[in-house]
Amino acid sequence: MNKNNEMLIGIPRALSFYHDYPFYFGFFTDLGIKIVLSDVTTKHTMSSGSALVVTETCLPVKVYIGHVLNLLDKGVDKILVPSIQSIAHKIYNCSKIRGLPDLVRNVVKKDFTIIEATLDKSEKNQGVYEYLGEIAAYFGIKDDKRIKKASKAGWRTFNNFHIMSKSGMSYEKAMNDSIQGKVFIENQTREYPISVALISHGYNIYDERASMKIIEKLEKMDVRTYTSLQLSREQMEDGIKSLGQELYWANEYEMTGAAGHYLKDAKIDGVITLTAFGCGPDSLMIERITRRARRFNKPLLNLTVDEQTGEAGFITRLEAFVDMLYRKKRAGIINMDFKSQSEYIPNTNFIETSN
Ligand code: SF4
Repeated sequence: MNKNNEMLIGIPRALSFYHDYPFYFGFFTDLGIKIVLSDVTTKHTMSSGSALVVTETCLPVKVYIGHVLNLLDKGVDKILVPSIQSIAHKIYNCSKIRGLPDLVRNVVKKDFTIIEATLDKSEKNQGVYEYLGEIAAYFGIKDDKRIKKASKAGWRTFNNFHIMSKSGMSYEKAMNDSIQGKVFIENQTREYPISVALISHGYNIYDERASMKIIEKLEKMDVRTYTSLQLSREQMEDGIKSLGQELYWANEYEMTGAAGHYLKDAKIDGVITLTAFGCGPDSLMIERITRRARRFNKPLLNLTVDEQTGEAGFITRLEAFVDMLYRKKRAGIINMDFKSQSEYIPNTNFIETSN
């Protein structure tokens, strides 16, 4: 409770935020719980989080810790730090996501309540409904009907977000519209000479500091970016099969699944994978994707980011890759369906300053 007697919950703008926030918005709003989000990631968020964990920890977890600290600075004393063990039967998250509450408790030595509900669909009685009940109990809400009604509101916002994302709407717009209760289907009228698939997790792509605004940079080069948000679960499952893989990791959908789908997709000229330094599961998946990409005749660029990654080198690699896609397209080595490709001069020389 704050001084106005409102129930407050802090949500770090990191990791599962990029997947689950539309649901949480609908759910908590319906329960009358006000959400306080941490601020967008800055250099300080990264360095404050990094200072508390061992160097080998992956960048997204360092960023997560930085966001918890930011919420504490804002005076929030109840912070949602879920332990998402498995998202379907025997489909597990990585150990860092599973052990997040323990990590936060051990490294952030401050006085606050960690709302540490567990979701484990591989176990009995630890499904979504039990998970939501556990969270609501921290606010003294135990009425099943009230929790079910709130969860319906959560799914409505979540589904609206995904409908808009699939139509090609930008992540920010789909997020803003869905939490305002709006649903629009966007007609994509602009033609792009080049299309790429960006393969990564939401927290690597849509955290603009971690991703160094990669989508915006590609847009400035007249490149259209597709991500896993434009795909259905079935398309990603099919993508996993086309790369000869079995589903085991929860994040295999947005990595192997999206890569498998887009490698077969004729409108995609090239594939970019974006991984965070220190991520074990991703390095295994990227290795398999890279090995199998050759037979699909699609150029592939692997980018790894950490808190030291320089923007200049990052832009240079992107520009070189996009230039190569234009050259290959002109030479007819990859997809040839863009009408004016022979006259097109790529806009790949720009200078960007970071804040
Ligand atoms: S999947 Fe990789 S990047 Fe994500 S939390 Fe786990 S180790 Fe970190």
